[in-house]
Amino acid sequence: MKAMPKCCSFCGITEEESLLIEGVKACICKDCASLSVEAFAEMEDVQLLQNHTFLKPHEIKAELDKYIIGQEEAKKILSVAVYNHYKRIHSKSKVEIQKSNVLLIGPTGSGKTYLMQTLSKILNVPLAIVDATSLTEAGYVGEDVESILEKLLQKADGDIKKAERGIVYIDEIDKIASKTTEGRKDTRDISGQGVQEALLKMIEGSEVAIDIGNSHWKKQKVIINTKNILFVCGGAFVGIQDIAKKRLDPNKKSIGFTVPSDSDVQKNQTDYEITHEDVIEFGFIPEFVGRLPVIAVLNPLTKKELADILVKPKNSIIKQYQALFRMDGVRLKFHQNAIDFIVEEAMKKKIGARGLKSVIEKRMYDIMFELPKQKDIKTFTITKEILMNKSSV
Ligand code: ADP
Repeated sequence: MKAMPKCCSFCGITEEESLLIEGVKACICKDCASLSVEAFAEMEDVQLLQNHTFLKPHEIKAELDKYIIGQEEAKKILSVAVYNHYKRIHSKSKVEIQKSNVLLIGPTGSGKTYLMQTLSKILNVPLAIVDATSLTEAGYVGEDVESILEKLLQKADGDIKKAERGIVYIDEIDKIASKTTEGRKDTRDISGQGVQEALLKMIEGSEVAIDIGNSHWKKQKVIINTKNILFVCGGAFVGIQDIAKKRLDPNKKSIGFTVPSDSDVQKNQTDYEITHEDVIEFGFIPEFVGRLPVIAVLNPLTKKELADILVKPKNSIIKQYQALFRMDGVRLKFHQNAIDFIVEEAMKKKIGARGLKSVIEKRMYDIMFELPKQKDIKTFTITKEILMNKSSV
């Protein structure tokens, strides 16, 4: 009697149809063997996520919420992007997961830099903040793009491994857009494109040689691999809403980047969904935009959000002043009319939350100079009149 052909114990394919490896009591075919390698890698990834103290996206966002007011969409997108980034770094799967570099678009003072600073603190990874306008193509006067990694290495206290898992935030990226577009006046010339090109490889992931040591004699070259560095680029992109609006509805007249009233916020978020196409139209080369797959938009802050920024975050401006006064034994309070005044004045400056501190800083210094002279004061309330200098301390 003819012996039964051996077959794969997993899929049943016979030895006549595929190569088989024979074990003590079972066989496995080539396809099932390679599938199982991938399945094991995925199981290891799941195990890693279960055992590792990775913060989940909702946990990252909950931490961000303690410091950053509003910008819900951007906080959510960043939390997921960062989570995926660190999953990608640790993954053993053969599936090549694309880097989740991010483009942050939002007006000045809306929290872009602050978001990155807070994220790096939460994740305990080094963060280098650089200004795109200071960067130049190789061979020109200014900072080479490699200087970004020198900064990151400094932030990582010289630890290359730590730097290789850090975050780079390139601010004012919109200033290296390379062509003039309608509605945008802050254009730079073609040299912007040169910087975009110089950044391509680094952002995508490559080995970059950088100099360390600050004296001419002690300079030494080290290699930094940027494969696992998260790059986030940010800018105000003045006029990009007009581009998006035109794309969505070419017949309508555009209305620009305006500070919304509280009731307008929802409309603002959904009306102008900005796409990669719009960023290219703004003046970026497609190769550059392609390396920033995630776009997060931050909205101009409303009056209510500015007031919340004063009061609510863990280290809000008011909480910081209260802590300073407490050390002098004084309980500091802010009257609602003082808060409204600060917000109104900050709104006029059109620099977002950055305006809040500048409105009161000088006057608070006067108060901090005068108050410690008066030993009997236990409670002190800041009012609009005091801030306007119409009432003395
Ligand atoms: P951008 O980078 O968008 O120009 P920043 O992040 O530098 O603005 O904001 C300036 C300062 O304003 C921050 O350091 C922070 O104190 C405050 N700030 C800005 N946006 C927010 C926000 N959404 N929530 C809390 N504080 C904020």
